[in-house]
Amino acid sequence: MRTAIVTGASSGIGEATARKLVETGYNVMLAARRKDRLETIVEELGEQAAFHATDVSSRDDQDALAAATIKRFGQIDALICNAGIMPVSLIEKGDVEDWDRMIDVNLRGVLYGINAVLPQMVERKDGHIIIISSIAALQTFPSSAVYSATKSGVRSMSDTLRKEMTAHGVRVTTIFPGGVKTELGTSIKDQSVLEMMGGAFNFEFLEPENLADSVAYVLGQPPSVCVGELMIRPTGQP
Ligand code: NDP
Repeated sequence: MRTAIVTGASSGIGEATARKLVETGYNVMLAARRKDRLETIVEELGEQAAFHATDVSSRDDQDALAAATIKRFGQIDALICNAGIMPVSLIEKGDVEDWDRMIDVNLRGVLYGINAVLPQMVERKDGHIIIISSIAALQTFPSSAVYSATKSGVRSMSDTLRKEMTAHGVRVTTIFPGGVKTELGTSIKDQSVLEMMGGAFNFEFLEPENLADSVAYVLGQPPSVCVGELMIRPTGQP
C-alpha cells in the first residue's frame, strides 16, 4: 500500500487531502502542530492513518516526521507540502515577525520537508512531491508581498527539483489554489487589509475537498506522467 505524508493536515486543504487519500487507498501520516485536532481526525480515519506532531519550520521535527512515517508504514511514496500561513500586511507596517514566520513556514518548511524524504525516494527511484503554492504566487495584491514571495519561491523550488529529479523517477508538482474556504485568513490582524480583501475577494470560494480532489488526480497518474503545475480557481475568481 502506498504512503503519503500530508503537512498542515489539522485543518482546511490538508485535512481534506488526508481524508481523500485514505479513501483512495493510501496510508497517510498527518502532520501539523495542533495534536488534539490530528488525534481526532486520525481516530476517525482508522488504521490507514497516523499523526506526528510537527512544526514544519523545524528541521529536527521534519526529520522525525519522515522517520516516524517509515517506522509506521515502511516507506514514503508522496509528500504533500501543504502547511502554510498567511498573516499578510502592508510592507509599510513593517511586521517583521510575521514576515519571518511566513518565510520559516512557507519556504523553509517546504525545503526541510523535501530534504527529509528525498533520499529514500531517490534510492527507490519512486516518489512524488506535491507543493501547495497559491494563485498569489502569480497575482499579487496590496499586502501580499511576503506571502506572494514565499509562494513564488516554492514554485521556483518545485520546478528546479522537478528538473533535478527527471533521472531519478521522482515526480514534482506545484498546485496553485485560488480562494478556498479555510482558516487561512484568520491570522490577518490589520482591519484595513481585511476590508480590502473582503472587497476584492467577493466571490464564492472553493471547498477544501476541491483541492483534495486535485491532489488525488495528480497522484493517480501513471508513473510516466508528471503533472508539473495545476491551477484551480473558483469559477467566479478573476
Ligand atoms: P488552514 O489555515 O486551514 O491550514 C493551514 C495548515 O497549516 C494547518 O493545518 C496548520 O496546522 C498548518 N501549519 C501552520 N503552521 C505550521 C507549522 N509551523 N508547522 C506545521 N503545520 C503548520 O489553511 P489552508 O488549508 O487554506 O492552507 C493550506 C495551504 O493552502 C497553505 O499553504 C496555503 O498557503 C495554501 N493556499 C490556501 C488558499 C486559500 O484560499 N485557503 C489559497 C491558496 C493557497 P497547525 O496550526 O495545527 O500547525
